[in-house]
Amino acid sequence: ASEAVKKALEEELARSQLAEQVKVIPTGCFGFCAMGPIMVVYPEGIMYCKVKPGDAREIVETHLIKGRVIERLLYKDPVDKARVSELDDIDFFRHQRREVLHNCGHINPEDIREYIARDGYLALGQVLTGYKPQEVIEMVKASGLRGRGGGGFPTGRKWEFAAQAEGEEKFVVCNADEGDPGAFMDRSILEGDPHAVLEGMAIAGYAIGASKGFVYIRAEYPIAVERLNIAIKQARELGLLGKNLFASGFDFDIELRLGAGAFVCGEETALLNSISGKRGEPRPRPPFPAVKGLFFKPTLINNVETLANIPRIILKGPEWFAGIGTEKSKGTKVFAIAGKVVNTGLIEVPMGTTLRTIIFEIGGGIPKGRKFKAAQIGGPSGGCVPEAHLDVPIDYDSLLEIGAMMGSGGLIVMDESDCMVDIARFFLEFTQDESCGKCTPCRVGTKRMLEILQRITMGDGREGDLDLLKSLAEDIKDTSLCGLGQTAPNPVLSTLRFFEDEYLAHILEKR
Ligand code: SF4
Repeated sequence: ASEAVKKALEEELARSQLAEQVKVIPTGCFGFCAMGPIMVVYPEGIMYCKVKPGDAREIVETHLIKGRVIERLLYKDPVDKARVSELDDIDFFRHQRREVLHNCGHINPEDIREYIARDGYLALGQVLTGYKPQEVIEMVKASGLRGRGGGGFPTGRKWEFAAQAEGEEKFVVCNADEGDPGAFMDRSILEGDPHAVLEGMAIAGYAIGASKGFVYIRAEYPIAVERLNIAIKQARELGLLGKNLFASGFDFDIELRLGAGAFVCGEETALLNSISGKRGEPRPRPPFPAVKGLFFKPTLINNVETLANIPRIILKGPEWFAGIGTEKSKGTKVFAIAGKVVNTGLIEVPMGTTLRTIIFEIGGGIPKGRKFKAAQIGGPSGGCVPEAHLDVPIDYDSLLEIGAMMGSGGLIVMDESDCMVDIARFFLEFTQDESCGKCTPCRVGTKRMLEILQRITMGDGREGDLDLLKSLAEDIKDTSLCGLGQTAPNPVLSTLRFFEDEYLAHILEKR
């Protein structure tokens, strides 16, 4: 839809002979998807929402030529919010803290000069000219940053393992194989601010002693792929990737590798197999990728959001980062909010923000006056959070305590009309379908669980089904080879924990 608006604006500008004076610049996602397509007219900074191609003529003739703001396209909250500088007055933005997303929606991701103008590549320059690799690792450790891909492993320690691993050749891999249903955090970061990820990778390469990086990205993200390719080319042209960066003697270059959409390839070892041309199946650990990773060489794998945090940590200092969030979960987290919520979109909040704030303040609550029932957090590996836990702070540890997990940041909201058994079945269908089949507990166990869920939802549930589901789930969690199988039963277990009455209602309904 934004492409169509852009085209219509360019045509109108050409028709009005303004094409030389006024440029239409594409940006990444602004986050406020419910109000999209959004455009901002500079230098005034007037923000227009839900713009359609048919609005282009009025925008050119009324705003650009006559200088009058078009009120019907302004955001109402409940009074008009006209300027992009007033974003903090809007509930959707007021409770956010946009650090990783600070460039998204504000710069042209296809022009490296706009990234540089906002201190882009300054952190890399500072690191290469003023810090030893171990000092960089200490900074990342001191920041308290934990992996944003799901597991929450301390990033600095991961870097240290890779730095200490023996080997002349090492690699940095960016895991951009985002596959959770409803999640689009990584895609938006890569589409809106690709250089932040490239810069984070180069800094990681210097810290661990790698001169080569790969971004493993889903082929289903064509805009992100295109923008990454442009970003890599422009960074090479300016000497920000390639040989002897900042005259430091450090070489680092990056290539893309496209994944074909298998969810399991988001698992680190399956991803490495896929990059090296093998079947995308997980392999047993140890050895860990830090010791034997890509091509059996020491490899650091970080997720997109983790890497995008790195330049800001270097520039603003680890203490600044550690001052955001909770004691054990530092910094901010990007979430994609979808489902039964008024303001769907991409948000970033300090760790420790409650689900209530996310859903009711930022998300604007539940549409059609319906009641909130639960939020599925962490995608197919995560769990459902019911109303009773809406005030639990969102951080790695608190979520685990209530049977959910941070995951990569997918957040799907459900209202009173949703059946939780159906939700559990949906997620299990997804993981069952995506199971690579290498190990029996996941391949066969999830299939048996799915059969039970299917018969329960078809009104054919049997006595003992719930006990069987629980025992299968525990066995699959304990014995599967990789994270996909180990977490696949989570949505079933968490809905059983909080909504067992709905399962029973299905079973008893039959009798
Ligand atoms: Fe494959 Fe599932 Fe086993 Fe992972 S747990 S290796 S996805 S079969």
